[in-house]
Amino acid sequence: MKRDLMEILACPLCKGDLELEVFEEDDVEIVSGRIYCKACDEYYPIEDGIPNMLPPEIRDSDLK
Ligand SMILES: [Zn+2]
Repeated sequence: MKRDLMEILACPLCKGDLELEVFEEDDVEIVSGRIYCKACDEYYPIEDGIPNMLPPEIRDSDLK
């Protein structure tokens, strides 16, 4: 994902502001990292350049 995307992303639970934590970044975009909502104390993973903004309870139930 591009860094600019942070400007339009909001927490799916509270619609609040998010913090970006980058693990890996190339010339173009953030490849892996995580997005943190301080208000909800939840992390949203960024994997292969794609942010997973599903609320954690939906994300978890999909896997089972
Ligand atoms: Zn939130």
